[in-house]
Amino acid sequence: MDVQRPWTSITPVVDSIARKAIEDLNSRARVIPDLTADPYRQKELLRQMVRETIDSYGMAVSDATMVWLEEQEDHMGMRPVEWKPRRVDSHQVEARMAHDFAPLFFEEQGYNRALNSMGFIVADELYSRQRKNAAHTAWKGGGSWARVAHPGACAFCTLLASRGFDYTSRSTAGGGYSGAHFHDHCRCLVICRKRGHVELPESTIRAQKIYKKAQEEVGSTDPDVLLKAMRQVGDLSK
Ligand SMILES: [Zn+2]
Repeated sequence: MDVQRPWTSITPVVDSIARKAIEDLNSRARVIPDLTADPYRQKELLRQMVRETIDSYGMAVSDATMVWLEEQEDHMGMRPVEWKPRRVDSHQVEARMAHDFAPLFFEEQGYNRALNSMGFIVADELYSRQRKNAAHTAWKGGGSWARVAHPGACAFCTLLASRGFDYTSRSTAGGGYSGAHFHDHCRCLVICRKRGHVELPESTIRAQKIYKKAQEEVGSTDPDVLLKAMRQVGDLSK
């Protein structure tokens, strides 16, 4: 792998695991309406599937991230430290499912809507596993980490990415309040460094330009004002 450009080797891996997870989920979900037309029963079956998918594919993302971190270990001078999901993490998933599965009961195309939400819940959890493992490793090892924005990232992720290797604190090291869950549908990843040289990707340079221009325009550091300006300056969708 290219240790100075570590995002190039982890991005396709997490993307492909997430894609497989969603395909798997969708093919299993297709048979549920044949098994039962009862929305309460459907909801239980879907919830169980989401839990199982997150458990197994989440483990795959964690394992892949650990291998990727091991490949950088000599360059970074940091030992990979695995991040373990806690009870609060599964509570968050349960809360999202309780909310997002409501269309099952109230809407004509409710089942498809619920399936769609289910895919987002799973993908969010999978990408967050990579972020949490990488941030946790850097925090434990006394290094720093940077968020790498995915193409089409929202203004908030663009803002976070624009900070580069600014992150060193425990509160953002996977699982802390501000690191736990920023928003839905995030496919951002995290890279880390300590002593070895690590470049920032083109998307971060772009994020920094958007941030700088937005700040010049509004002359404010108020996040809401800044985010609004960044959406305009960077032509960001959300
Ligand atoms: Zn994001």
